[in-house]
Amino acid sequence: MPSNTNRDATRPRHRRALLTALGVIAALSTLQGCDESPTGRKQLALVPEAQMTALGEQSFERLLQTEPLSRDPALRRYVGCVAQALVDALPQPHGEWSVAVLDDPTPNAFALPGGKIGVHAGMLAVARTPDQLAAVIGHEIGHVLANHANERLTQELAVQGGLMLVDLFAEEPGGAAHEAFRKALGLGAQYGLLLPYSRTHEREADRIGRDLMAQAGFDPRASVQLWQNMAAAGDGQPPAFLSTHPSHDKRMQALAAEMEQATALYTEALASGRKPRCTPP
Ligand SMILES: [Zn+2]
Repeated sequence: MPSNTNRDATRPRHRRALLTALGVIAALSTLQGCDESPTGRKQLALVPEAQMTALGEQSFERLLQTEPLSRDPALRRYVGCVAQALVDALPQPHGEWSVAVLDDPTPNAFALPGGKIGVHAGMLAVARTPDQLAAVIGHEIGHVLANHANERLTQELAVQGGLMLVDLFAEEPGGAAHEAFRKALGLGAQYGLLLPYSRTHEREADRIGRDLMAQAGFDPRASVQLWQNMAAAGDGQPPAFLSTHPSHDKRMQALAAEMEQATALYTEALASGRKPRCTPP
């Protein structure tokens, strides 16, 4: 019988990945493993967490090979300070998180499974205060906490019949399966080009990020201001962050409408002495 990619994928080296993929298909077909996001939304996020972490870290490493890091120490310290304050406010155990400032003038940011956060230097032109920057990073952390990449990859696996995950471990980096995984992470075919999230994921990341920033001692009302800055920036052309994080009519209203809960968290944080001191460069 002639060998083909499917048969190759059953070799022992890839058996574990194949079993995982079969597990994903089985769970999809019976809707077992249906999970809840941090906001209580039912979701299917079936790829094992360890695998998401490994793939997120791998993608991040490869991204750093092509995207230069900022060489501005004051900028790196500032972004690191804001990110660390948010991470400190996460419920334990929260695993390891790290932030990299990329020397990219477009206002954008992302976070990957495994806790790798990336902020473009250009984001600072739009997120002009520590509170606004905390809104951006909090939003990106929200995508990770809610397993959005896993959900997207699960959907992709459903479409591809699970073979994608097998191929991912079988093929060299840069192949079709790797590209599919990057898409699930929100990374485009070219590094630095981010893909849009769905409206549901955006709204959920907004809510999680807004509450997280409040708990960390950042003023959650800055999240509304951030989106106003976004809308005003770009000189008629939507900034990158807006095209990858689609703005919808009701976005700012939704953030504002549920602000009461967040400001209560903020007041609590301040009362317990939580007020990050991060100085913009
Ligand atoms: Zn988003």
